[in-house]
Order: sequence, then structure tokens, then C-alpha cells
Amino acid sequence: MRQPFVAGNWKMNGSKQSISALLAGIKGAMASISKTQVVVCPPAIYIPEVEALCADSAVKYGAQDVSFEQAGAFTGEISVSMLKDFHCEYAIVGHSERRSIHGESDELVAKKFATARAAGITPILCVGESLQERESGTTEEVVARQLNAVIDLHGVDALQDSVIAYEPVWAIGTGKTASPEQAQEVHAFIRKMIAEKSAETAEKVQILYGGSVKADNAEQLFSMSDIDGGLIGGASLQVEDFMAICRAGDVSVK
Ligand code: PEP
Repeated sequence: MRQPFVAGNWKMNGSKQSISALLAGIKGAMASISKTQVVVCPPAIYIPEVEALCADSAVKYGAQDVSFEQAGAFTGEISVSMLKDFHCEYAIVGHSERRSIHGESDELVAKKFATARAAGITPILCVGESLQERESGTTEEVVARQLNAVIDLHGVDALQDSVIAYEPVWAIGTGKTASPEQAQEVHAFIRKMIAEKSAETAEKVQILYGGSVKADNAEQLFSMSDIDGGLIGGASLQVEDFMAICRAGDVSVK
């Protein structure tokens, strides 16, 4: 059985004050969540604040990115040991905004994935195709390439202590959600690809969908057999919307 999982990616949004209000709202509504693992990923500078605010709750937190280097002359970067200092349990790696805006390659993402895992931080590995790639019929090829960059370097079992997020780039922040069938098709492809190497890993790994998930489409998406929850951008900044999405996780246990 895979535990439903919903993570909020706050991106570069918020302030000390708004984050505190957002978390108070999330924590206040956690009593209505019984099965879903709820995770928030604040901007790194607010992780200490979030650590303190989450201390007495079931809400976990993660970073939006992490360096593959351990320490040294890497201006602006944040290391796994720094995240560990603040008991961060998750790190998103390979978000499409990092891949497209910051030019992160599959190889770099695979290195970040390994560095996080080695430190005991669960990577949330993002994969997904652009609109052009979907329209040219290469969705599976792109997703397989992104996933194989990790599998080839670290072996398929590395995925056992990780989370995968399928995020079609054309659906992120656009309001254009993949239909449950479109998303399920890619999720099933990912699980099958992993199953060809390890049935056990394929059964265990949580595969989230991300891309304009909202309170009114989450339940349908999460009810699909290979969708184990979501990585949520915009809607994770509104308490009611985010918690409705988390509750949709609760009814989707596989
Ligand atoms: C994301 O950035 O990971 C994301 C899914 O964003 P949104 O929900 O806003 O589309």
C-alpha cells in the first residue's frame, strides 16, 4: 500500500508573516487529514521558521532545491548538511523551472538526487514534457530519459526512498490541467518502466501528479490507479484550497 502524499511548492512566494499564517491554517486543518502525508516546501530562507512552526504537527517540510556539492565556493547554493541542520526531510530536485530557467541538465538533477538520498533526505524528483514535446509525440521518450538519468547512475532501487512527480510543463501554473486519463497514462508508463527493472520498487514508489491541481480536480486525478497524490504550486498558497487537495489524497489510498 502506498501512502497518499501531497506536497506544496511555495516557490518564491511569501513573507515571514504570510508563511506563519499559512502554516497556522494548514496545521489547524490537519485534524481532517488521516492518511495523507502533507509536506510544504518553503523558500529556503524560511526553512528555520517552518521548522519551528511544524514542531508540534504532522506537517513535514522540504527544500525546493539542493546543491549536489557538499560545501565550498558555490555562491548562493544550499547543501544537504544545511538542510539537515533544520531537520528538512525532503528536497525537490529537477523542477521544470530549475531545468528551464537555470539550465539544469538530467545529469545535474541525477547528482542532486543522489546527494540528497545519501544524506537521508527524500528527493522529490520532477519529470515531465514540454508542450512541444507532447505535441510531437515524444512524452514517453522525454520522461524515460529524465528518469533513466537517475536509474543509470544510481540503480532502480534508489527510487524506493524517493518520490517521483510527473509534471507536464504545459500544465504548470497555466490552469491547463492534464486530464486524469492523460496523467494516468504517463504515470502507468513510469511505473511500468520501473517494474521492468524491479517490481518491488514499482509497487512502492509514490508517483505524484503536478500541474494546475486545484480543489475541484484533485479527487478525480488522485483516484487514478497510478496517481498517489500531488505536487501543488499555486493552490498550495491558499489554506482552504490546499487542505481540500490534501483531503482528496485521503480518499485515494492505493
Ligand atoms: C509546480 O510548480 O510544481 C506546480 C505544479 O505548479 P501549479 O500547481 O501552480 O501548476
